[in-house]
Amino acid sequence: MKTRSKEILARLRALRAGDAPTHGGRVLSYVYDSGVAELDELAAQAAREVHAVNGLDPTVFPSAGVIESELVQFARTLFHGDGSVVGNVTTGGTESCILAVLGARDAASGTAGSSKAGSIVFPITAHAAFRKAAHLLGLEAIVVPVDPVSGLPSPHGVADAVRDDTVLVVASAPSYPFATLDPIADIAAITSDRGIAFHVDACIGGFALPWWGELPAWDFAVPGVTSISADLHKYGYAPKGASVLLVRGRDRHRHQYFGTTDWPGYPVVNPTLLGSRSITSMAAAWAIVTYLGEAGFAELTGRMHDSTTALIAAVRAIPGLRVVGAPAGPLLAVAADADAPEPVDPHLWLNAVARRGFSLQAQPSLQQPDGTTLPRTTHLTVTPATAVVQGELVAALVSAADEVRGLAPAEPPAALAELARLFGDGVLTPEQAVSLPSEDIYSALQAAGVTGDGELDMASILAGVELLPRDVSARMLIEFLARVIEK
Ligand SMILES: *Cc1c(COP(=O)(O)O)cnc(C)c1O
Repeated sequence: MKTRSKEILARLRALRAGDAPTHGGRVLSYVYDSGVAELDELAAQAAREVHAVNGLDPTVFPSAGVIESELVQFARTLFHGDGSVVGNVTTGGTESCILAVLGARDAASGTAGSSKAGSIVFPITAHAAFRKAAHLLGLEAIVVPVDPVSGLPSPHGVADAVRDDTVLVVASAPSYPFATLDPIADIAAITSDRGIAFHVDACIGGFALPWWGELPAWDFAVPGVTSISADLHKYGYAPKGASVLLVRGRDRHRHQYFGTTDWPGYPVVNPTLLGSRSITSMAAAWAIVTYLGEAGFAELTGRMHDSTTALIAAVRAIPGLRVVGAPAGPLLAVAADADAPEPVDPHLWLNAVARRGFSLQAQPSLQQPDGTTLPRTTHLTVTPATAVVQGELVAALVSAADEVRGLAPAEPPAALAELARLFGDGVLTPEQAVSLPSEDIYSALQAAGVTGDGELDMASILAGVELLPRDVSARMLIEFLARVIEK
């Protein structure tokens, strides 16, 4: 290879050396390592084969149509869909969720680009992508509280939240924050009764739950489920950029499309949010799915089932911690056991686990619309690679808890506590704060010591998130991330 190319790739490798490890089971969120080296190699080669293809037009690039069709068929069979179930491959869970909401909105009004106000209803544990969808599509998000102990919404709560203008109800299989499997059949009974669309978000569970073992029906086997999202770039082990969205009924599905001939350029027909469309991740996902087949997925899921069962047992045996609810699938959330004589703060625990070489994910406590509070938790996403480090991981979870047991939770950065007081005293309103110039927001971050230079103390940052009005903490985190790119 030419020297110039070698230098460029050397720089890329040097940059990558600063990243969290994507393989080996030490990062328990973001990455889904199958632990099968051959699968990664196959995926990379498949992506390379199609790297210059434009999936925008499958009549010019028929391979794109075949790959998408075969992935949709695989998922449809897996999720007990009949011939009326159709769908697409999207770039990820967020896009699948947004399209599900878009399709439901326009199917409900019978027109494309409906500007009529409407609402969507979902348990508070539904992925934030549905808040984003409501925001982008001009719909109101109606949030249903869940039981703080089980993490589950009551079907009554969902029924009460549904309004005349509700275009879609969403539930999760399972939810990302707590791994809870929502009562899909009960909710479906409510939505079918009222003729409302019902989306099951299986973004995380879609390619694991079918092989998990005994679970209540959650897919198209349940009449009333009108769409399902499932991410190929999670437990489909594909590189980022691949998810499927399946829809029951062609007429409903077509509302998700955008088409126009009303401009001087080529006729535009887009099934997803994008125009020109890479099919690299889709081709990688297709190669993986074809290679693994149901038997391969069953084996990898079996490995994750063993790891998850062992981790749940290990956490339950740690005094001061508890597992939230009954996790369905290879993920779990851990909270402090408030009844223990010496509770373990889950975020101090996370920091102590990080010092032992494992990265877990911090989730803030949250007050629900009914006034109850969901606890702060620490999230673990289990993958087939977890098995490789399991003994070491369990030892780290236990000794980290011993290190921080009984300690008071981390304080938020002093500057954030001061800021929170301004809101408490009515000196500043959240609306005023979020419309401050970026420079002022950045100054507040600097004062709080949250700038991305040096180690971030997640326990302390999350304590700040919990203390501030949520709109304000979101604005501050936007500033934080924007500055990462503006460096
Ligand atoms: C990950 C996830 C999403 C969003 O998916 P992205 O691929 O991150 O955009 C939506 N719903 C659930 C349940 C998820 O776990």
